[in-house]
Amino acid sequence: DPRRLANQIALVTGASSGIGVAVAVALAAHGASVVVNYGHDEEGAKATVATIEAAGGTALAIKADVSKEDEVQAMFKQTIERFGTVHIVVANAGLQVDAKFVDMTLAQWQKVIDVNLTGQFLCLREGAREFIRRGEQPEISRATGKLICMSSVHEVIPWAGHVNYAASKGGIMQLMKSTAQELAPHKIRVNSIAPGAIATPINLSARDTPEEEKALLTLIPYNRVGDPADIGNLAAWLASDEADYITGQTIFMDGGMTLYPGFADNG
Ligand code: NAD
Repeated sequence: DPRRLANQIALVTGASSGIGVAVAVALAAHGASVVVNYGHDEEGAKATVATIEAAGGTALAIKADVSKEDEVQAMFKQTIERFGTVHIVVANAGLQVDAKFVDMTLAQWQKVIDVNLTGQFLCLREGAREFIRRGEQPEISRATGKLICMSSVHEVIPWAGHVNYAASKGGIMQLMKSTAQELAPHKIRVNSIAPGAIATPINLSARDTPEEEKALLTLIPYNRVGDPADIGNLAAWLASDEADYITGQTIFMDGGMTLYPGFADNG
């Protein structure tokens, strides 16, 4: 169904760049009105809104640092003022601050935990509060609301040199599952998408040169880097009634990165 999200309101964090843009565009393409959250990149957010509007969709850019409770609450308030409620929250905003373990400062650790983990907690909590306040709308969606976390293959694959990032994604796994368990009686579905290597600004440095790209592909049995649109399409489906019986799951979309490709030639 090309309009599987008709009459639904979605909020996507970090939708000024990369995966968040593709998720916002895909949700809008399936009929949702989309709040395009951004932290600082207003130009990027405006471009996302323009792309959605050019395709006949509805979007609104809202600035909020997802790691700040007051800003997240203000963003949801503004969303509800404009659209009446929200049905889908995609907690996507995230960043990397890389350092060797022994050199990692508390500030580098804290920044990544604040944005990637606490930021998702705050957005999930505000979303759940609104879903419960509004109650069921079975004519619009079988679930009262849908929460989607943007995790990573690094919720299971350890990552030397990035322990803050890997810890944040491991934390998201239990944030998601425990929240799913707690909110299921409210008919709220909570799931994660765990991308592998998707071509976005976050990992440009790993794809700079042909040698780097080749090294990256040795980790991907399917032998291509993912497109943001791959993730956008999955998010649109996962938010729809077609996925209504899925909750508490991480869906890996990684071209096989989690298949231990190093073992492929070890026969
Ligand atoms: P990106 O850098 O292109 O986008 C990240 C977005 O988050 C940007 O729009 C940025 O402005 C926003 N953001 C950062 N801090 C914020 C804050 N405090 N408040 C609000 N917004 C903030 O990177 P991306 O690859 O699109 O990453 C999106 C998500 O996907 C992240 O959670 C990332 O961990 C995850 N992910 C990406 C990949 C990949 O290969 N690209 C793989 C696995 C997981």
